[in-house]
Amino acid sequence: MYEAVQYCKHCGAGLALEDLRQPNCKFCKTVFPHHAQAAQHAQVASQMMGQMMQQQAAAQDQWRGAFGVGPMPPGPYQMGMAQMGATQAKAMSGLVIAVVVISLLVVVVMIGAVALFFVSV
Ligand SMILES: [Zn+2]
Repeated sequence: MYEAVQYCKHCGAGLALEDLRQPNCKFCKTVFPHHAQAAQHAQVASQMMGQMMQQQAAAQDQWRGAFGVGPMPPGPYQMGMAQMGATQAKAMSGLVIAVVVISLLVVVVMIGAVALFFVSV
């Protein structure tokens, strides 16, 4: 049974649901607007993802610079997502170690200051 649920905006042919699953009209081959929109959305989404990842990498480089750690190795965007995650995990563990070492140093300095205070009193 052929039931038109939509009409092609280009040639006016009646289109069934299964025809609408195709990317373009089976009569005139015009790309359906909803497919064109979906492709556009995917492009915009991937652009935004790329921008976000670049901003994140820049922020991470700033943090690493503040901690005296070298910048990220060049070309993390060319890596696959799994490798990217592993690199980030490594960077995170390095940051955690740096924070632990710094807080230990602060504790040692504070203990020394307290000891000096008691000695001078
Ligand atoms: Zn058509």
